Amino acid sequence: MVFGKSEEKQEMIYLDNAATTKMSEEVFTAMKPFFCEQYANPSAIYSFAGGSAKAVDEARKKTAALIGARLEEIYFTAGGSESDNWAIRAVAELYNTKGKHIITSTIEHHAVLHTCQYLEKHGFEVTYVNVDAHGKIKLDELESAIRPDTILITIMAANNEIGTVQPLQEIGAIAKKNKILFHTDAVQAYGHIPLNVEEMGIDLLSASGHKFHGPKGIGFLYIRRGVRIGSLIHGGAQERSRRAGTLNTPGIVGIGVAADLASKSLDERMKKEIELRDYLINRVLKEVPYCRLNGHPIDRLPNNANFCFEFIEGESLLILLDQQGICASSGSACTSGSLDPSHVLLAIGLPHEIAHGSLRLTLSEETTKEEIDFTVEEIKKIVERLRAMSPLYEDSRKGFV
Ligand SMILES: *Cc1c(COP(=O)(O)O)cnc(C)c1O
Repeated sequence: MVFGKSEEKQEMIYLDNAATTKMSEEVFTAMKPFFCEQYANPSAIYSFAGGSAKAVDEARKKTAALIGARLEEIYFTAGGSESDNWAIRAVAELYNTKGKHIITSTIEHHAVLHTCQYLEKHGFEVTYVNVDAHGKIKLDELESAIRPDTILITIMAANNEIGTVQPLQEIGAIAKKNKILFHTDAVQAYGHIPLNVEEMGIDLLSASGHKFHGPKGIGFLYIRRGVRIGSLIHGGAQERSRRAGTLNTPGIVGIGVAADLASKSLDERMKKEIELRDYLINRVLKEVPYCRLNGHPIDRLPNNANFCFEFIEGESLLILLDQQGICASSGSACTSGSLDPSHVLLAIGLPHEIAHGSLRLTLSEETTKEEIDFTVEEIKKIVERLRAMSPLYEDSRKGFV
């Protein structure tokens, strides 16, 4: 197979699966009847609606099973951002008489960080716990941040930029010991690594369909039974009156099938992805000078590799990779287009000039060794070309820096 974008080279290489994934054919097939045939509102009484209601039920079961939850603890939403907003704002509202202090981390997704900042404008206090050089939460800092008025700990399961997986079980135990609710943004983890809300002591968990080969615009919030947070969307009685609005039946069916597919092949897929990821990481570190891996060397998402290349701009690297048909990212899709370096890379202690030269490659089970080999060769060429134009690189080679 030939890759790249010239006349005879047409194949694209998609290495941005942290931004979104290709929806599975199986998911699409399962969704189709629920657009033009079984279009009934699943809340309706007549028997025509029975099929839709049953399909929603089935999907809820499959979605819950993947994290060891009960089906009545799954509340479908329009995605990860909505679930994060709902969890944090609703806990703040429910407990504001008990306290107004929230603990999160410096490397959260903007859906969490900006919600916390919104609450800060409305009288809440937020502690942003630091991470170590690999992006792991400092547990001692987390424990000492706890106060009598702390009402929520919200820490992501796995980071979307550098892939570091957090010690959820330890965090859950700390939360439980102190009788504080624990929310986790598991958008990058759900369907990719094993999660269990019981074992990990998770009270609230956000996930999103399009990050694990399901449809876009559908996600869910897991709310542990007994946690009495209110609704974000007011209206009808859907989702036990906690998330109003006619159910997105095709989307719900889709996320259910995607969850089922993920659960069936999880171990096998993880093994395959880890092998290819490590092959990629080892080649890049060995063959490209002045390069480092960001994130934890072992406790990282099976499909995530994130590098910094000194003396170059990540944006230029991305544009030149795109010219070769390679889709990659500099980190968060939300910061692309802005010139600020990623808050995650700064949080793990990288200086601004190095954080600017970052590249995130996120694989899927469909990624091949051939694609990785082609990508590594292109990175080598492009990095060399960009450095040849960099006065800083010249100076450093002459020993001026
Ligand atoms: C993608 C992502 C989100 C947002 O999910 P949407 O479904 O796109 O709203 C939130 N958190 C993390 C960690 C993500 O990777």
